[in-house]
Amino acid sequence: MAAAAGSPAGPVLIVGGGLAGGLLALELRERGRAVTLLDGADAAAASGLASPTALSYGGIPGWPVLPTPLARRAAGAARRWRQLQRRHGDLGWRRCGLRLHGSALAPWIRGLPFSRVDAVRLRNRLPPVLAAAGVQQRRGRALALEAAGAGWRVHLAGGESLEAPQLVLAAGAGCRALWPDLPPYLSCSWAGVLQLPSGGGPITLPRHLQRPLLERRALQLQEAAWVVDPGRAPWGDGALLGQISWLAAADVADGSAPELAPDPALMEHRLRQGLAACGAAWISALEAAGHYHQVPVAFSSNGLPLVGPVPQASGLWVFSGFSGAFAQVPVLAPLLADWLAPHPHRSARARQRLQALGL
Ligand SMILES: Cc1cc2nc3c(=O)[nH]c(=O)nc-3n(C[C@H](O)[C@H](O)[C@H](O)COP(=O)(O)OP(=O)(O)OC[C@H]3O[C@@H](n4cnc5c(N)ncnc54)[C@H](O)[C@@H]3O)c2cc1C
Repeated sequence: MAAAAGSPAGPVLIVGGGLAGGLLALELRERGRAVTLLDGADAAAASGLASPTALSYGGIPGWPVLPTPLARRAAGAARRWRQLQRRHGDLGWRRCGLRLHGSALAPWIRGLPFSRVDAVRLRNRLPPVLAAAGVQQRRGRALALEAAGAGWRVHLAGGESLEAPQLVLAAGAGCRALWPDLPPYLSCSWAGVLQLPSGGGPITLPRHLQRPLLERRALQLQEAAWVVDPGRAPWGDGALLGQISWLAAADVADGSAPELAPDPALMEHRLRQGLAACGAAWISALEAAGHYHQVPVAFSSNGLPLVGPVPQASGLWVFSGFSGAFAQVPVLAPLLADWLAPHPHRSARARQRLQALGL
């Protein structure tokens, strides 16, 4: 992202109270900034299943998954989660075992450090933790943004508006609807998963994940495409099973629009078919019990999240498009919080550190 010319002090308004918005809000409070966190409230959100953060496996590899500076930094996420839990109490982070499906040589990876955040625990704990840290939490859906004086005004459904000198878009798949000029590589897919009533055990992931490969093809797709990844993760008292990822054709500007959502019945059918075809014994007993959910997920087709100021929109920032959000967000949020700081020196240093990560 482009460099911001000097950041004003004063409150920061964050749109989006998922993993990215939540952890950024905590980092900003650590630095003494006043923060308002706005998240869209609807019936689905009330059941806790409306966002990818709430429906995530939450897996965190403790090694660099790619030979890049960002991946090397994200490999240290477990340390950040431990620090966060020391400061704020249990957020659902735990070390856990990893089982690789489709690996003849080493189905159990005992030596590699792996951890996960229980998304149910995080969803329950984040609001009180944010409140205790002094973050103002607002329910409401942002409909539009406009520059107002030296800052930004956010118009909410219901006619109210909020203003702040600095505004951060951490709305996941909702970012582009609010600011259509975001770079084209910030894209959106739909992810579907089966929720199982009982859980426990290690995380199981496919040896070769299809989802990242599909994301890399996002800008070339002539027609909608989907892949199924067989996996399983504990989730509260239950578990999540499988993942279907669906992408609209590249010429569809915003695949997150509700009218563009894939048919849930067809998605569920394809997911179940894909899981049956993978022939994993650990799936068949559970298959019938699963309840299907799907959510729109933001990602970046070049693998690099958007972290920083939005060009030609002074005071507007973006924090979205992660691949491996549970590893990337906790290590990037402190840097973005520093960049947003009113201290030119600290801000410049954070910007340099993010640039060194290729962002
Ligand atoms: C099945 C599944 C498994 C996954 N497994 C993993 C994994 O193992 N490891 C990993 O790292 N990642 C995983 N992910 C991805 C990860 O969960 C997401 O990348 C991450 O949660 C994104 O967080 P976020 O805060 O950027 O966005 P979101 O979770 O999308 O949060 C955005 C928030 O913004 C709000 N919002 C949107 N628009 C508006 C608006 N206009 N006004 C107000 N609020 C708005 C939404 O309500 C939402 O709460 C998985 C995802 C899924 C679906």
